[in-house]
Amino acid sequence: MRACSVKQGIPVYSGKAKSLYRTDKDGELLVVFRDDITAFDGGKKDVLSEKGSLNAQVSARLFSLLGEHRIPTHFIRLIDNATMLVRELEMIPLEVIVRNIAAGSMVRNYPVREGTPLDPPVIVIDYKDDSRHDPMLNDDLIIAMKLLSREELARVKDLALKVNIILSRFFEARGMTLVDFKLEFGKYRGEILVGDEISMDSMRLWDAKTKGSLDKDVYRFEKGDVLAVYRQVTEKVLKRGENP
Ligand code: 5GP
Repeated sequence: MRACSVKQGIPVYSGKAKSLYRTDKDGELLVVFRDDITAFDGGKKDVLSEKGSLNAQVSARLFSLLGEHRIPTHFIRLIDNATMLVRELEMIPLEVIVRNIAAGSMVRNYPVREGTPLDPPVIVIDYKDDSRHDPMLNDDLIIAMKLLSREELARVKDLALKVNIILSRFFEARGMTLVDFKLEFGKYRGEILVGDEISMDSMRLWDAKTKGSLDKDVYRFEKGDVLAVYRQVTEKVLKRGENP
């Protein structure tokens, strides 16, 4: 890993698992993935050494993959194992979730059986606000709240579905099934970019054969050694020479 040549400046923001810092360059930020892991709106929390670097490396690889497919993202490069250099976005407070298989809140909130394939994939957009428990939005609410214009909303959905195709193929080729994932978007010089992270904290991944969880559900529901699972996924994601 190359030495850090970017100066970590003033903290800009600290979330539940990542911290943002200014750099010496305008319009660029450092994202430091911390070892904190939380679930249930912060109701369950722990610190797991190495977890931050595993998520940072997976995020960096997946953002690079998206870049190779001409999906615009905030990712510039990895600075060290737990730090990404990114473009500074004006974040849109939305959580854009794409579901390929019913799981999680979809089976908790609706009469749908876990494991039901969803074809076409289902897009759910939540308002990002922990104090309100990220309530679900619909298109009219998004427009009424001026979170996005109709055209921007169409662009966000189109990007989310394209990302889904790219990531689903990538994981399938590595023996994993992308059940669902969450994206966040932001604006950079008028353009909508994929921001935040794409990691085991923000996806639901199942082992293609056993259907066992390979993501934060292992932590949420105490299904086993979450660090061992995150290491296993990271190893598969970083392995080169496989298609796609
Ligand atoms: P669900 O709605 O089933 O809880 O979550 C759907 C998908 O979006 C899961 O892969 C979950 O990890 C991700 N997701 C939903 N809300 C959040 C959130 O607030 N933070 C993160 N990191 N991921 C989320």
